[in-house]
Amino acid sequence: MQLSNRIALITGGGRGIGRAIALSFAREGARVAIAARTAAQVEQVSHEIGAEVGTNAVGLVCDVSDRSSVEKMFVDAGETFGRAPDILVNNAGIAESATLLRTDDELWQRVLSINLSGTFYCTRAALPAMLENGWGRVINIASIAGKTGAPYIAAYSASKHGVLGLTRSLAAEVASKGITANAICPGYVDTDMTTGAIEKITTKTGRPAEEALEAIKKMSPQNRLVTSEEVAAVALLLASHEGRGINGQAINVDGGAVLF
Ligand code: NDP
Repeated sequence: MQLSNRIALITGGGRGIGRAIALSFAREGARVAIAARTAAQVEQVSHEIGAEVGTNAVGLVCDVSDRSSVEKMFVDAGETFGRAPDILVNNAGIAESATLLRTDDELWQRVLSINLSGTFYCTRAALPAMLENGWGRVINIASIAGKTGAPYIAAYSASKHGVLGLTRSLAAEVASKGITANAICPGYVDTDMTTGAIEKITTKTGRPAEEALEAIKKMSPQNRLVTSEEVAAVALLLASHEGRGINGQAINVDGGAVLF
């Protein structure tokens, strides 16, 4: 068991990549808190963990873009487990697309406040206990859009570039304190988020969904979508003792689409 005696908090754990990470960490012995805005989804995942692994997981309702909601989530997680999380996975995120000129203030703020400020609020709340314990892991689910740009995703790409800057600065700050901070940069993953992207292409262009999916797959040299479980496997390595030497990295899980 790679994560025995560890407590992990996974934001955006109600579905998709966050759900896969929560399940994989629980299978390795971690006690897990799952947070998102939709109560039914975080409760569902915590029941799944209870049924499969037999350990108690807790589902917490939180909007990561709201600082007071984040602070309450950490209080609730601390009360549930008797101490603060050792592992924080900043996975909550949204993807919205528009040309730059159609990116209004609301869209820009919505994306930046969830994807970037949410990551900052959660990390700042988690760090004091990690520093006190001399052990911690911060794992940020960024994107290859955090390394490259593409049409129609200025806000999303800017938010994920910001996550990489935050990750690298934090890693430098905590390197000597038993804490690591890393980012994972997936390409397109088989989740609701990608289904949403396909629906948007279909609506905007009239292309059939199958054709839009094929075009998305072709963006990877492996001509396929990444699975949530592949992302979870990298998160597990970063969370584990064996991953302790990896710090300040932004690891692509994209079939080789981006080579830096
Ligand atoms: P999903 O849309 O399937 O899941 C997103 C999760 O984040 C949900 O649980 C959602 O729950 C939660 N969430 C969204 N906004 C908030 C918020 N304000 N506060 C708390 N939780 C929130 O997406 P994925 O699993 O695909 O994506 C997970 C992460 O991976 C994201 O950061 C995304 O940018 C990144 N990523 C995804 C890729 C993909 O192709 N799918 C590619 C590269 C990166 P709720 O709505 O209930 O709050």
